Amino acid sequence: MAVLSKSFQEWLSGRSCNELLHPHSCRRAAFENLFRFAWSNSKYYLPVVLLHLGKHSLRSGGANQEILLDTLWYYAQLVFGGVVDASLISISMCSLRNFLGKFHLYTLLFIPATIGGAFCALFPKRVKHLQHTAIFQALIESLLLHLNPLSKLLASSLSLQTAIFMICSAVILEGQQRRWYNGFWFLTPDAPKDPENPSPSKSCTHLELDCGLYIVRGIRNYLLVGLALDVFRYLVSSSKLNQWNLSHLNFQSTAWLGCYVGLYRAVHCYLRRIPIIDESLKHPLAGFLGGLSYLFYPKLTILSYALLEAIRSLSPKKHKPRKYSKIRFGWSDVLFPLSLAYLIHNYVMEGQRVSALSGVIIDSTTANYARNIGKRIARLQ
Ligand SMILES: [Zn+2]
Ligand SMILES: [Zn+2]
Repeated sequence: MAVLSKSFQEWLSGRSCNELLHPHSCRRAAFENLFRFAWSNSKYYLPVVLLHLGKHSLRSGGANQEILLDTLWYYAQLVFGGVVDASLISISMCSLRNFLGKFHLYTLLFIPATIGGAFCALFPKRVKHLQHTAIFQALIESLLLHLNPLSKLLASSLSLQTAIFMICSAVILEGQQRRWYNGFWFLTPDAPKDPENPSPSKSCTHLELDCGLYIVRGIRNYLLVGLALDVFRYLVSSSKLNQWNLSHLNFQSTAWLGCYVGLYRAVHCYLRRIPIIDESLKHPLAGFLGGLSYLFYPKLTILSYALLEAIRSLSPKKHKPRKYSKIRFGWSDVLFPLSLAYLIHNYVMEGQRVSALSGVIIDSTTANYARNIGKRIARLQ
């Protein structure tokens, strides 16, 4: 970083906004950026709202007017949030340059991104949650890839990754079953036993009388979800590259989800019949062993998400009484702007320090604004 700082002072500090950030005047750039950011955020959030629409339609047995209006409102909120973030960052960059008379290493991107990210705390809860999830997941993945020898060992060791995923799986499923936290997770946990009304005739809580049928139904449903995900990913990547080759369609998500639910349910049903094992250990053990399915789809992106959700499940706020859980602000509101700033700063200055996912998120929500600055810097150096 010392070398970068020195070369920054020598080559970039005295540059104008036009040379580093944008053509035309700062005011015109801010105006034009509004439309660019709105367009890029509209494209970026479209799959999210389609999933939202699909999930709520399935739950209510079809799309009704209320669900459609809610989806449109959610879409508008997401796009508005993305535009506000990106605009505040780009306007702060120009303002700091004009105020200080030159660029500094941390006033070019880091401080503007912190300012823009800080406003996320005021967004509606679901918009904030989605933005936090994307950035924290990208940060964890970037840190796993490039921070220190321990992270590098983890990134290269499949068995270590699998072990960590198994622990996260146990924590998340247990947390969801006990209602500590109800964020998105790939599996829905089995219903807990009702201590008030234990059924002596039946060890499991599922509606099916036969455990085998329950396991097979789970595998069938999750295979279909995995298949939909694989086809969706194939369609998105093929339309981006404009190459429609069926050999690029793989079924890793299908295999992973089918195996995950199969292992989890089979182990849980089996353990529930064994009286010598402590009741409180049965469910975490099933979640833990179900995590072995990571071997079918070993992706650092999934591991990063699992780590994030496990940390959220264990967050002390989730275990407090209901009146405390209504507090709107938390530690994540402080971490979010700093994480965003870290990712954007490093993406432009030292691209190899951040994950591919980080680059996709940053570029997709800023109409390639950060990437274009990186290109201009590379040309000027
Ligand atoms: Zn400017
Ligand atoms: Zn069962």
